[in-house]
Amino acid sequence: MTRRGFLVGGAVLFITGCTRKATTSADQVGYRSAIPPYQGSKRTGAAAGGIWYSVAPGDTLSSIARRSAVDVTVIARANGLSGPQLQPGSRLWLPGASTMAEDALTQGDGPDVDDPDAPLRPHPGTYDLVKREEWTTARIKGNNYLMGGVDRITVHHTGEHPGMEGIPEIEVIQRIERYHRDERHWAAIGYHYLVGKTGKVYEGRPVKYQGAHVSGANEHNLGISVIGDFMHQLPNPEQLGALKAFLTDSRNRFSVAKGRVYGHRELGKSVCPGDALFAWVTAYRA
Ligand SMILES: [Zn+2]
Repeated sequence: MTRRGFLVGGAVLFITGCTRKATTSADQVGYRSAIPPYQGSKRTGAAAGGIWYSVAPGDTLSSIARRSAVDVTVIARANGLSGPQLQPGSRLWLPGASTMAEDALTQGDGPDVDDPDAPLRPHPGTYDLVKREEWTTARIKGNNYLMGGVDRITVHHTGEHPGMEGIPEIEVIQRIERYHRDERHWAAIGYHYLVGKTGKVYEGRPVKYQGAHVSGANEHNLGISVIGDFMHQLPNPEQLGALKAFLTDSRNRFSVAKGRVYGHRELGKSVCPGDALFAWVTAYRA
């Protein structure tokens, strides 16, 4: 990224190698936020209700947990289970679940541990939300604009920041935030969310604030960056599943049509989010 933002007579001016655009409007600051409350990810079981499931031979507590995206401890508690033994034919209540995925992950997914304390691997198509407070104590600086509602979503990859490969993802996010805050003098990290490689979705700049992720096109634009460089390859299945689930949740949250999901390169002079991920984005919204 080569763009610079600075204050000119109260307006934030963003300059990139090829675009030059003032992205301010004092009247936006007066907007009342039109952001609905966050409904939670599928994996936290925030959805109301649940489903009954008949235990099949070969099922384990963890395989059912994985397929329903409900934590083993939640299933155990809801059904009064004291151990991992399941009786085929018995019925289990799966709080918050809506569907059972096919168990495509059984092979190559590591040991099938039935210890309720064992960490669950995220299931493709779901994600865990990591709040901003979990990776930084830095406050949002005052030079921000309120979002005033979201009507489009832009997908990025962190590959647009050189030298981020192979670094732990929390540190990737902290480095990008430092770069945006301290060198660009922005209010906070430019993206609203970042999707990690194991199904975590990190909150970046709170969505009540306009982001700084597409020069000249940040208004009402939710910025989601996928951690990695996706010029030549797609994210791994867990990461791609998390992106897809999070895009769906975000579109529902803000009532954004599929056709309003963009790759950065469509709105700004950039190759972001890489050829491979951009092809996925165009297929996703088709
Ligand atoms: Zn980008």
